[in-house]
Amino acid sequence: MIELLAKLVAVSGVSGNEEKIAQVINEEIKAYVDEIKTDAMGNLICIKKGTEKRIMLAAHMDETGVIVTHIDDNGFLRFSGMGGINHFYSLHQKVEFYNGTIGVISYEEQVENLKDLKPEKMYIDIGVRTREEARKKVGIGDVAAFVGTFAVNENMVISKALDDRAGCAVLIETARALKDNNNEIYYVFTTQEEVGLRGAKTAAYAVNPDLAIVVDVTNPGDTPNAKPSLLKIGNGPIIKIMDRASIIHPEMKELLINSAKALNMNYQLKVATSGGTDAGAISVSREGVPTASIAVPCRYLHSPVEMIDINDAINAAKLVEKAIYKL
Ligand SMILES: [Zn+2]
Repeated sequence: MIELLAKLVAVSGVSGNEEKIAQVINEEIKAYVDEIKTDAMGNLICIKKGTEKRIMLAAHMDETGVIVTHIDDNGFLRFSGMGGINHFYSLHQKVEFYNGTIGVISYEEQVENLKDLKPEKMYIDIGVRTREEARKKVGIGDVAAFVGTFAVNENMVISKALDDRAGCAVLIETARALKDNNNEIYYVFTTQEEVGLRGAKTAAYAVNPDLAIVVDVTNPGDTPNAKPSLLKIGNGPIIKIMDRASIIHPEMKELLINSAKALNMNYQLKVATSGGTDAGAISVSREGVPTASIAVPCRYLHSPVEMIDINDAINAAKLVEKAIYKL
């Protein structure tokens, strides 16, 4: 799965600009599904035909990034975050525009105290001297993704955009693994999750599933001085009981826990009062959809150095596959 993940994070897909990553996913999954559609929101909907239950599996393709709001006289770019970017993490990072232009995020003054960091004092430097020079490379409304090299330490993977290309890889793996199943499975790679679960809304309406499983990443809280938590990377996929956007459906919770037990697989349960995944949008679509959310534990979320244990992603795929067979 590591090679697949490397391919998926190599392409930018800032919210609202997911065409390129959708193409890459299309190539990777097309051999395992019967039909692929793209809707007006840019969602990639890949269908494996069947006659039993209609199952929606969803992972978001988009990643956080920046959007240019203003170019000053000296060619420095002001920007807003696309999705919940962490300004502290963003400082002195590289960003890449879709035409290949690289910029560096810097700050107006010497930062004495990181607590005082003000987003409006941050700018992107693309190495030009005037607004005219800048305009030849970048325009208002252009988006850029963070640059973060893909690195592997045995089973630990460090990269940008693991949120949620890890989930996309899990769905592709599931599609490869699932054979001889009579359910109709919709592998949905959603858009604009990071800016408000938007793609999932229209996709869930169109698919009209009997049940749904969302695969995303979540912070385990296992680093020094993190909020106390027993969750750890490498300890298995996380079944999210609750977050700010959704509560797991009781039957889905039972299904996933029983599937993990049947596999003799380590799993972790998380109750969160913040954050949210596409499960929030899918569970309340139409007349309601029994929905669950599985997360790959991921340190340093929304930074260019996100970190996962690949085994958690591999096991998440096995868990989804088992749950589908148990239906
Ligand atoms: Zn995510």
